[in-house]
Amino acid sequence: MSADVPRAVSVADVASLLHERGPALVLTGAGMSTESGIPDYRGPDGNRRVTPMSHQKFTATSEARQRYWARSFIGWQRFTAAEPNDGHLAVTDLQRSGAFGAVITQNVDGLHQDAGTRAVVELHGSLAEVVCLMCGERVDRDLVQAFMHDANPGFGARALGSAPDGSQVSSQIRPDGDIVLEDAAVRTFVAPRCLVCGDDTLKPDVVFFGGSVPRDRVDRCFALTDAAPVLVVLGSSLKVMSGYRFVRRAAARGIPVVVITRGPTRGDAETTHRIDAPLGVTLSSLARAVGERTDRAG
Ligand SMILES: [Zn+2]
Repeated sequence: MSADVPRAVSVADVASLLHERGPALVLTGAGMSTESGIPDYRGPDGNRRVTPMSHQKFTATSEARQRYWARSFIGWQRFTAAEPNDGHLAVTDLQRSGAFGAVITQNVDGLHQDAGTRAVVELHGSLAEVVCLMCGERVDRDLVQAFMHDANPGFGARALGSAPDGSQVSSQIRPDGDIVLEDAAVRTFVAPRCLVCGDDTLKPDVVFFGGSVPRDRVDRCFALTDAAPVLVVLGSSLKVMSGYRFVRRAAARGIPVVVITRGPTRGDAETTHRIDAPLGVTLSSLARAVGERTDRAG
């Protein structure tokens, strides 16, 4: 067996490891939210299925921002309707039982917090907040949504009617709340403006593809990694360096790296314990196994 093939383990093995080593640092990716109806950019094969908005595109032109906000305006309703799934709830249980500690998430959907998980670091920011690139003013996404609603009467109905397949727009929602929308509909959209400086430079406070995570947030995550007895990765193919660097740091420290996700990951060489299975059922089972051990020990 090659040293690069991670050891496939059982849920009981992971429960035992967490019981012995103490609260693991958790890193979660898009796979965590797919069971809540928010699809991953990548399929189980790890290949990208759609092209996400890039930081460079978003900041380059008013047209790109108009396109983003028009699509995101439609996608938001569906996005905010998403609820935590069994996996999110199990993470909360595992945190309460002391098996999990802090959670670093690459997701911008807020579902960990909705599930009651605490000590969540949103590595790529949150869609719930909007920031002005020109003056730095911050505003709730709900307020921006209300502004767009008032400034674009009837847009939702028109946009949905213009979908190539008639009515399936909402099923094409993306991890960042974006959807697919025809150009003709996009061009009629009145994009939101900053209430302080009046510029059309409002951006959701998330790290787009090609953007960078603020340095202080990265440092905080490295500090968490350096203090952790175990790193558990949930629902991530680790294709993005912003999350993978913590796996490399954990491996360099010699702590166990548990990966629970569907399909191969970029971190196979650093992984010491591997479960290739759906997250909801697996994490529920892990929470039960940890609970049983705690009962026996208690
Ligand atoms: Zn501004």
